[in-house]
Amino acid sequence: MPSSSCQYIPTDTHKAHVPLIFGENVSCTFIGKQQVLAVDAVSFGIGEGKITAIIGESGSGKSTLLKLIYGLLAPDAGEVRYRGWQVPTRKDKLIPGHDAMKLVSQGFDDLNTYANVWDNVASQLSNTNLKLKEERTSAILKKLRIDHLAVQRVADLSGGEKQRVAICRALINAPEVLLMDEPFNQVDASFRDILQQDIKNIVAETGLTVILVSHDPTEVLALAEELIVMKDGKILDQGAPEKLYLQPTQAYTAKLLAKSNILTPQQASSIGIQTNKQVAIHQEWISLAGGELKFTLVGIRFRGFYQELILKHEDVILHAMDFHKNRYALGNTLAVTVTKYHLL
Ligand code: ADP
Ligand code: MG
Repeated sequence: MPSSSCQYIPTDTHKAHVPLIFGENVSCTFIGKQQVLAVDAVSFGIGEGKITAIIGESGSGKSTLLKLIYGLLAPDAGEVRYRGWQVPTRKDKLIPGHDAMKLVSQGFDDLNTYANVWDNVASQLSNTNLKLKEERTSAILKKLRIDHLAVQRVADLSGGEKQRVAICRALINAPEVLLMDEPFNQVDASFRDILQQDIKNIVAETGLTVILVSHDPTEVLALAEELIVMKDGKILDQGAPEKLYLQPTQAYTAKLLAKSNILTPQQASSIGIQTNKQVAIHQEWISLAGGELKFTLVGIRFRGFYQELILKHEDVILHAMDFHKNRYALGNTLAVTVTKYHLL
């Protein structure tokens, strides 16, 4: 329960437009050798029963924002509210962390690596009802597909398996909100999709609210229903992944999500786009043949299932995708068409 020092503003979170968690002008400064404004007057809303991803480059304030939401850090200005209640912080509460939330931190620091998987998870439940304790532990291990690892020591598990143990521990007491900091960092790419699908299924089945942090937005584009884009402590963009991908409002978001080419108005004009705004051209919006624009191929990068071509025309450099191998050689002239662009 929120502490008595916390002021309550009634909100009806069942109404679609009322976020479960909202922040208003939240700032957080670290004072050390240097003063760092890690989160700078951000306002945001997080909807109930869905997956929200906080994305941005390293040092942009993502982990700090997650800790502010959980109450591990206190904002030095503004406030964070959960169901209308101000989130209690260390000054209000002996054990930090909101009671309705669970945080899976980076690096598995909460796991007891010398104990086995079962004990790591079961230890989160009390001994008042041993039968229930056994049932719930068994059920959550099955749900996260690690029941076959129950007697293994955590120290002997892979990164992906440890992550599943950490999620089981967090979920066994049925929190309303699961917070995860870079949860896929130590999970092999081939297992990432399966873990993401498992998280999606749990959200769909239980109505759990998930907030996760990632520095690689491409890995969460398919997972999250909502993205919060951070840069230098500020929130630049918030919205549905598809909307932010196709209609970003900031060059930073376009580069982060789509590795987009960003052109100045002058550069755009030299390839026939007349505007006074910056122009975002995603790599897949460039057709490599049949166009009017003559570009020289100055670089080829192997990207696995495609090649990234680096093309130059006057002072315009475009990165484009080519799905055919060895079609072009360095120095070739390509007749490029920009099939689509987005004004920022
Ligand atoms: P991200 O998670 O996006 O990489 P963080 O929220 O961890 O970023 O950090 C944001 C900024 O705050 C960075 O400049 C970081 O160096 C600084 N910072 C984070 N935690 C601390 C701390 N405990 N003490 C001092 N500075 C910190
Ligand atoms: Mg971080």
